[in-house]
Amino acid sequence: MIMIVMHSAMILTMAIGIIGSCLGMDSLRNFLYDMSKTKGVIMTKHKKGQGTCLCGAVTVIAPEMKTTLSACHCGTCRTWCAGPFLAVGCGSNVEIIGQDHLSVYSSSDWAQRGFCQRCGSSLFYRLKATNQYFVSSEIFHETAFAFDLQVFTDEKPTYYAFSNPTKNMTSDEVLAAFSSST
Ligand SMILES: [Zn+2]
Ligand SMILES: [Zn+2]
Repeated sequence: MIMIVMHSAMILTMAIGIIGSCLGMDSLRNFLYDMSKTKGVIMTKHKKGQGTCLCGAVTVIAPEMKTTLSACHCGTCRTWCAGPFLAVGCGSNVEIIGQDHLSVYSSSDWAQRGFCQRCGSSLFYRLKATNQYFVSSEIFHETAFAFDLQVFTDEKPTYYAFSNPTKNMTSDEVLAAFSSST
């Protein structure tokens, strides 16, 4: 099975080289994204995302939005957004339109949380040191996200559970991974 997947990936890589020279990078990304949907092969990791809060006052534009999303079950996230925070990594290249209606709350020494001050929509979690944005997947109205990771699972209350097959990490595992990468 792995051999078959690798073979398909190799053919796709060759095709991408040819098509990529004909199309711009954005077109190529869109092509890859469509291929990943139709063939079930995840060849792309990013696409352009644009989402708005409930009232429309704040728009988040993320040219490098990941196509995978994660859920954080920590108590801070659950209090902040009325449930587990479903987040999609968008890197540091994020544009926010409607700054006048944006409020940013420092929830820790290392991170901020942005929300619309008019409608209260939870918009993003931002790491201060690296300017990395993790944007609420729910503002994008994207249906093709792949939900593949749950974090702070030891802080998840027992009264709800996702049935999605995901990688799961406890708070200790997250902190170990974070400290080993810095
Ligand atoms: Zn709003
Ligand atoms: Zn959290």
